[in-house]
Amino acid sequence: MSVRPADLRPCAAVGLRRSDEPVTVDAGSATRWPVITKAPSRMAVRPNLTDYEATCASFTWDAARAALDGLPDGGLNIAHEAVDRHASGPRRDAEALRFVRADGSTRSLSYADLAEASSRFAAVLQGLGVGRGERVFSLLGRCPELFTGVLGTFKNGSVFCPLFSAFGPEPVSQRLRLGRGRVLLTTRALYRRKVAPVRDDLPDLAHVLLVDADGSPEPGTLDLAELLQRSVPSREIAATRPEDPALLHFTSGTTGTPKGAVHVHDAVVAHYATGLYALDLHPGDVYWCTADPGWVTGMSYGVIAPLVHGVTALVDEAEMDADRWYRLLAEHRVTVWYTAPTALRMLMRAGTERARAHDLSALRFVASVGEPLNPEVVVWGQEAWGLPVHDNWWQTETGGIMIANLVATEIRPGSMGRPLPGVEVGLVARDADGAPVIQDGVAVLVTDPDVEGELALRPGWPSMFRGHLDEEERYRRCFAGGWYLTGDLARRDADGYYWFVGRGDDVIKSSGHLIGPFEVESCLMEHPAVAEAGVIGVPDAVAGQVVKAFVLLRPGHVPSEELRLSILALARKRLGAAVAPREIAFAESLPKTKSGKILRRLLRARELGLPEGDLSTLEAGR
Ligand code: ATP
Ligand code: MG
Repeated sequence: MSVRPADLRPCAAVGLRRSDEPVTVDAGSATRWPVITKAPSRMAVRPNLTDYEATCASFTWDAARAALDGLPDGGLNIAHEAVDRHASGPRRDAEALRFVRADGSTRSLSYADLAEASSRFAAVLQGLGVGRGERVFSLLGRCPELFTGVLGTFKNGSVFCPLFSAFGPEPVSQRLRLGRGRVLLTTRALYRRKVAPVRDDLPDLAHVLLVDADGSPEPGTLDLAELLQRSVPSREIAATRPEDPALLHFTSGTTGTPKGAVHVHDAVVAHYATGLYALDLHPGDVYWCTADPGWVTGMSYGVIAPLVHGVTALVDEAEMDADRWYRLLAEHRVTVWYTAPTALRMLMRAGTERARAHDLSALRFVASVGEPLNPEVVVWGQEAWGLPVHDNWWQTETGGIMIANLVATEIRPGSMGRPLPGVEVGLVARDADGAPVIQDGVAVLVTDPDVEGELALRPGWPSMFRGHLDEEERYRRCFAGGWYLTGDLARRDADGYYWFVGRGDDVIKSSGHLIGPFEVESCLMEHPAVAEAGVIGVPDAVAGQVVKAFVLLRPGHVPSEELRLSILALARKRLGAAVAPREIAFAESLPKTKSGKILRRLLRARELGLPEGDLSTLEAGR
């Protein structure tokens, strides 16, 4: 990396403007972070990635689609692209998936193994009479049966819906009911605890397949191993069309009740292109996506994208732990690593020495998604590993990465990066009530640099969700004036980099100023004692709302009045009195979703004594 002092630029402008008038960045009050340029030696740059503008100008989704095989007569099936086309080519015996058990031992599946196992699963579904478009759910840890189940479901033309295995009985039955699950793939223990008690309320659930029945399935369930053994795998794949549904994903529930987003087989085109441009996947890579396939990241980028690119995907069956993660990165010579801010902040908390104690020389590219990535984490990555973290932005609804810090372009710490080739991003102006401004059926866009607007995407990318399950009206309301409205607020700087401001629901209005929680949180994290922060607005008679921060301290620091004042002083100096928190509370933990996102709505509800809302995705113990 070279950090050029002349290139010092303000980090995201402080979220300070009167809500009804545009304002340019006040660089004087903004935190400053160096732009990070990259040494080509650590990058395996494809020739077309070095010139962002040229790549975007020449890119078409049809061209990306043409790089895939397709099925005869214009058909498309994700499983064929991810597995079977490799299994019938030179990558047949290459290692597709490497599972690491809790004790560190491994088991691997080659592309040929995966093709065979998924075809067997498809045959099982067929034998059970499960048809095209019917829903197959999983409630499983990250085990091989989950992966072969997903791919076999695609091959059968059915729709897969993964559930995170740590969900309690209520969220599990709620989703199975909503999705009218016909088949559930699970373990004996998970079935006993979470499904058997509510089985009578799930009339659509015809078959429960246990992956560990060991010859004696529970009453009302079947032994998957036995069914697989008896099945006759066929090389036939259902002749799915690009627009046929393939996946049902429930969102993380950060802002409210989770929504079911329906995705189609054509999404694989976006998984392919974004795997190339945003994650730099090459055959021969050992790639590790730490997200669980129960969430969209773990499916799009933990299963589909790596397999489509023919790489070896590492799957850790255990829970997160700093030393274990470093060991895995080093021992498995991981080259590309895709993880999340909550994990990165945890590693940062564990310290630079621990990071440097491991040989990470194989690691070439680190990316992050799911929440705003604080600039200090990006810069710390550079210090600890010699590699910056590439933030990227997308949602369950977008199905794939939309905005990213790309492989060969400079990184602006705190920025989400620039739109991927083929993705048109706009910022839609909002009125004083926060509603998008639409005139004569056309959205009014923010064009000045560094002014907030609602992040919007021009419909038409292949992995766009095609519906909210059974909620047509809700789906329709996501689109206005020619755009898909994401519900997130952002700014674009003069060079086209996007800066996350906050979720529409989390943004704080104080004395007519709009304040994005992320910028305040990032500023608080600059204090050496602060490990993590969550910021909300609380009612104030004069200002409407004022900022309250909950901070989690790094090891070795204890709450004290002196420390509180010192954090406040830093925030006031950096952000100014209007934006800095009025109040700081020390917290032992922050409420998070099971996918690792800070639940500011819950902090707010608890603070104000309001109903806590849907907590089905709240992480246990928070
Ligand atoms: P729900 O829609 O149910 O409230 P959710 O929005 O958290 O839940 P996901 O689809 O898993 O569910 O998350 C997408 C959201 O996560 C984005 O809309 C954005 O708010 C946030 N996000 C994802 N990546 C980033 C990022 N790089 N920077 C900032 N925010 C991000
Ligand atoms: Mg959302």
